[in-house]
Amino acid sequence: MLHPKDRADSIYRIDFDCLKKEGIKYLIFDIDDTLIPRKTHQISPELDKLFKLLKKDFKIFLLSNSIRPKRIKKVADALGIEGRALAGKPMPFAYAYALKKLGGTPKESAMIGDQLFMDIWGGNLAGMHTIMVKNILPETFWLRQWMRWMENKLLK
Ligand SMILES: [Mg+2]
Repeated sequence: MLHPKDRADSIYRIDFDCLKKEGIKYLIFDIDDTLIPRKTHQISPELDKLFKLLKKDFKIFLLSNSIRPKRIKKVADALGIEGRALAGKPMPFAYAYALKKLGGTPKESAMIGDQLFMDIWGGNLAGMHTIMVKNILPETFWLRQWMRWMENKLLK
């Protein structure tokens, strides 16, 4: 359950064509340190470009545990997709909510995120394809640093 089905250095390194061929129609992205650094809500031109392309092939939802809903809304609005803050990952209800919004099934969905104990564990529990990416910025908070250490130990 803690095993990502796929891993990539960043979202820009994911083979989305391959996902499409494998029958994935719905993408659920984590936001912080997956799409953008934790402390900003700015969308890079690179991210904007990727999402414009992805929207042609997939239905997308943003699922974040961020405690700042206004910031998450800014990001979602800038990308032109729906999102949810305070989602409650890795609990199954978080993923059920996203699937309901997307109108998809777990089998046709992929969860993409940087945290093993949130994004990947929850995505696997929900029966989705899971892709773990490297966090954009190194962690500064001790609890998250410890979690990264644990993640790396487990992944090895
Ligand atoms: Mg994250």
